[in-house]
Amino acid sequence: MSTKRDYYEILGVSKSASADEIKKAYRKLAVQYHPDKNPGNKEAEEKFKEIAEAYAVLNDPNKRQQYDRFGHSGMGAGGGFGGFDMGGFDISDALRQFMEQGFGFGDIFGSGSSRRRRTSNRGSDLQIRLKLTLEEIATGTKKKIKVKKQVRCDECNGSGSAKYSRTVSCPVCKGSGEIRQVSQSLFGQFVNVQTCHRCKGSGQTIESPCRSCQGEGRITGSKMVEINVPAGVATGNYIPMEGEGNVGLRGGRAGDLIVLIEEQKHDIFERMDHDVIMVLPISFPDAVLGTSVEIPTLTGKAKLNIAPGTQSGKILRMRGKGIPHLHGAGIGDQLVQVQVVVPTKLNSVEKKLISDLAESDNLKPKGDHQKSIFEKFKEALDI
Ligand SMILES: [Zn+2]
Ligand SMILES: [Zn+2]
Repeated sequence: MSTKRDYYEILGVSKSASADEIKKAYRKLAVQYHPDKNPGNKEAEEKFKEIAEAYAVLNDPNKRQQYDRFGHSGMGAGGGFGGFDMGGFDISDALRQFMEQGFGFGDIFGSGSSRRRRTSNRGSDLQIRLKLTLEEIATGTKKKIKVKKQVRCDECNGSGSAKYSRTVSCPVCKGSGEIRQVSQSLFGQFVNVQTCHRCKGSGQTIESPCRSCQGEGRITGSKMVEINVPAGVATGNYIPMEGEGNVGLRGGRAGDLIVLIEEQKHDIFERMDHDVIMVLPISFPDAVLGTSVEIPTLTGKAKLNIAPGTQSGKILRMRGKGIPHLHGAGIGDQLVQVQVVVPTKLNSVEKKLISDLAESDNLKPKGDHQKSIFEKFKEALDI
């Protein structure tokens, strides 16, 4: 192995540099020497690899400590200190690290979203809000929604590797997916088995990463999702849709889509569990003589009979016109509170008629009209 430059020197930081300073230095240099900005420049590529390797060590507190104590001899496979293998750090590793650190070019030039470092290949879960009307909740509904998410990269079929590039056995772990570190101590030999950092345990690596997804096997896109909403849902309910979240890294399992239900406010109805309430204004003559009216329900118009002598405030119950129970049988009611409207403007003819009526005995309030509000309320509900 040729003599290696000091990792701190490569990144141009001091031995006491903070993690943040190291990250900044790496980012700056990695952007400068990135192969995409220096096509065909072998020297830049070597520099990029060197920078990546230095960062891989100095960014990891354990490796950095080991490097500080033993220098490069603590790093190589044959170093004798049970160090980790840096021998196989090639250009695709360097590029992947650059990407995994959230330094995709999209970020640097201010257009993309940041990628978080992942330990597992599974895609992340997504959450969306689904606004529903009371009518939709009463009957249940099917909704088609376009969800923006990470989808499979068609260029590489989700593999993350460029065309004609092979998936090869990981050179670090020789395909086993594990790295065994042997260390000597006063008490004998210790063997520490860890998941291979290079292939993340899969035992395979990509020769050269796909250009359109930069080796991720997925890109930002959108997909139409059909959501079946059962009748009776409420705000706070959610529908989990397995596998409809972001797709995984390089063909990894997709995350889930969580659909949060949000009930929209209704112009006429107020929801009370499974019942819906509405206020129905009626005229004084209708209240006195009784009538039949057509009123809205959640499933269309329906007829409601107002009995002669109906008091203002009375609640009429329309059975089965409410909201179905989400689990199990049963359906709520529609409660209609009658409100007798007292006219505020009268012409002279109307004034005369009302004055004549006022003389009538039957229009004068009697003792039973002075019941407590509580009694009246109980009476109103008892239909
Ligand atoms: Zn490996
Ligand atoms: Zn791709």
